[in-house]
Amino acid sequence: MSESQLLVRRIKDGTVIDHIDPGMALVVLSALNITGRKGNVITIALNVPSSKFEAKDMIKIENRFLESNDTNKLVLLAPKTTINIIRDYKVIEKRKVELPIAFIGIFKCSNPMCITNSKEQIKSIIDVIDKLKPILKCRYCVRILDIDELIHQ
Ligand SMILES: [Zn+2]
Repeated sequence: MSESQLLVRRIKDGTVIDHIDPGMALVVLSALNITGRKGNVITIALNVPSSKFEAKDMIKIENRFLESNDTNKLVLLAPKTTINIIRDYKVIEKRKVELPIAFIGIFKCSNPMCITNSKEQIKSIIDVIDKLKPILKCRYCVRILDIDELIHQ
């Protein structure tokens, strides 16, 4: 077991968010809406030595299993992030975060006049129209959305 894994204790069941860009863990927690108020044990490690020249952040959340829907938005914040689902101390699923074709009901459109921000209960649909750059566009008002704005809303 590597030094970085030993630094924070193993968990029996839950999610390990690993290889987060150094210094981004707190932003990741906020993007996932994880406040710690639900009572799960959450361990956060910042700037853990990862390889000779690199550091990373990691987050361990006990007794909570994050779905791709929750975690794929992290690709905009920390693209190297990997998600490990742990059951009974074993990694039963390991996945990379990836850009979906669209984010549905995840982010708010930044256009205050957009119908998704009106009183009607319409879920936001934000299409990823260019995966490389990436470029995101609201399907309803066709505004091109600023990624920083989406993340920090
Ligand atoms: Zn919109």
